[in-house]
Amino acid sequence: MIIYLDGEFLPKEEAKVSVFDHGLLYGDGVFEGIRAYNGRVFRLHEHLDRLYDSAKTIDLDIGMTKEEMAEATLETLRRNDHRDAYIRLVVTRGVGDLGLDPLKCSKPTVFIISAPWGAMYGDLYEKGLKAITVSIRRNAAEALPPNVKSLNYLNNIMAKIEANYKGGDEAIFFDTNGYVAEGSGDNIFVVKNGTIFTPPTMNNLRGITRMVLLEIAEELGIPVKEQNLGFFDLYTADEVLVTGTAAEVAPVTLIDGRKIGTGKPGPVIKQMTAAFSSKTSSEGTE
Ligand code: PLP
Repeated sequence: MIIYLDGEFLPKEEAKVSVFDHGLLYGDGVFEGIRAYNGRVFRLHEHLDRLYDSAKTIDLDIGMTKEEMAEATLETLRRNDHRDAYIRLVVTRGVGDLGLDPLKCSKPTVFIISAPWGAMYGDLYEKGLKAITVSIRRNAAEALPPNVKSLNYLNNIMAKIEANYKGGDEAIFFDTNGYVAEGSGDNIFVVKNGTIFTPPTMNNLRGITRMVLLEIAEELGIPVKEQNLGFFDLYTADEVLVTGTAAEVAPVTLIDGRKIGTGKPGPVIKQMTAAFSSKTSSEGTE
């Protein structure tokens, strides 16, 4: 496996970062997860826009143009000769000494990993995921808004741990107002009486897959409402689905033990899944 690290392409064993890197010491950095399908990178520019917006919010100068980052990403994929891959872009504040002041770090650390990838949830795309609503809260008023994709993922990890203990495949977060926010690594959609509902993006990550699903709904003429949702909307939904770069479009058929709709992936999910896979197989940057 070949890794891009600070301008060089190195074998995995040689791609090392310092223990004084503030990404490691303080979680000071941002990242992206991007998919390649059949050798083409899906929605690369949208992911780069989000990476640079995340970096700007934490006042981190990436030190490369978006074009250079796009080329480094594509070259990493090429050098690994991966067709279907998950690509991880990471930018940290860089190496400093102890002490959290970012002024101690003179230049960022940038690395890109491309790993072979299949379907994250295996046979659950057919059977549906069991989701658990968790006690961890997403808070739009935090210093770090949920739409920054930062290296601080402990809230999400705590949510995942809680879901794991309760036998769930995925966790569903609420925000501090009691509104549904998102999954631990994906956005959430509810279908009720033929309309698709999804929470607005203040209390969750502005998912690229979420955006693609909104495009698909428009193309298929399915009405969409972006509005706050609560427990009631989840439990009484006809269909629930989560979307993410890694998860793609995955049906949720059980939430906190309650069967969602018929307990099987429903017609809207099936339509959305088919349309999503036709986009991933026909689009992308080489
Ligand atoms: N929400 C969180 C917390 C995530 O980590 C992700 C994954 O990137 C998503 C939502 C879905 O976003 P995307 O579709 O851009 O992968």
